[in-house]
Amino acid sequence: MLSYQHIYHAGNLADVQKHALLACALAYMAEKPKPLSYLETHAGRGLYHLDAAEAVKTGEAAAGIEAVVDLFEPDHPYALALADVRARYGATAYPGSPALAQSVLRPSDSLHFAELHPQENAALCETMFASGAKTYLQDGFEMAHAVCPPTPRRGMVLIDPSYEIKTDYATIPSFIAKLHRKWNVGVIALWYPILTDMAHAPMLDALEARDLPKVLRHEVRFPPAREGHRMVGSGMFIVNAPFGLDDESQPLDAIFAGLGAKSR
Ligand code: SAM
Repeated sequence: MLSYQHIYHAGNLADVQKHALLACALAYMAEKPKPLSYLETHAGRGLYHLDAAEAVKTGEAAAGIEAVVDLFEPDHPYALALADVRARYGATAYPGSPALAQSVLRPSDSLHFAELHPQENAALCETMFASGAKTYLQDGFEMAHAVCPPTPRRGMVLIDPSYEIKTDYATIPSFIAKLHRKWNVGVIALWYPILTDMAHAPMLDALEARDLPKVLRHEVRFPPAREGHRMVGSGMFIVNAPFGLDDESQPLDAIFAGLGAKSR
């Protein structure tokens, strides 16, 4: 039974890192006129409102996107997507990765979103209804294996687990290796938390040992959301990373360094 709800954490500093890199990668890939496929194994509800009681209760968005929004250049793909979503849904709206992708991508692109939590899935379906995206009330790992290699073949998958299923850490490296064998041109992006007890470290070691192509590993550090909170940073492990994404991550490093965080 899944209990995690991203509304408590939407727009936190981990989301800022993940969503800013995602927006850069998708904006770069959408520069070519050819359509692409975009998949998410763990979509969440797609769109959040930061004045919701859950978001206000944790204060994670206040210490996250609201604290750094003005540090992004207005033409940064993440800032553009945020402005686009706020123009459509109001000033307190925050795009989860599905709404962000929809904002950056084009109607000709094919979108696939899996979300296993029934309420989150229902909200996702509502948000994505008009977009033409396919939504799946299904295990996201299974959905990715069923859909890949997708049509069109060019594209990206975001794997963004909440890691409440503890076996995720052990199973993800072989999942990614298998997915890469099926879809060798696909960009595969994994988000992971940086934890004080280093529970994420064996997964990263196993991924590094797979010798996957064009890997970009990007990490930022930040103060814990609450006293004693285990998450002290955020990382993205990207296979077949789009050209130039490393350079695009530098403004992000500067923003986190300015918060007293240590990047990479
Ligand atoms: N990607 C979203 C974003 O950035 O806006 C946040 C996703 S949240 C971190 C993780 C989500 O994965 C939760 O909504 C949870 O219900 C869902 N989930 C957990 N295990 C899953 C699985 N095996 N398949 C699909 N969804 C799953």
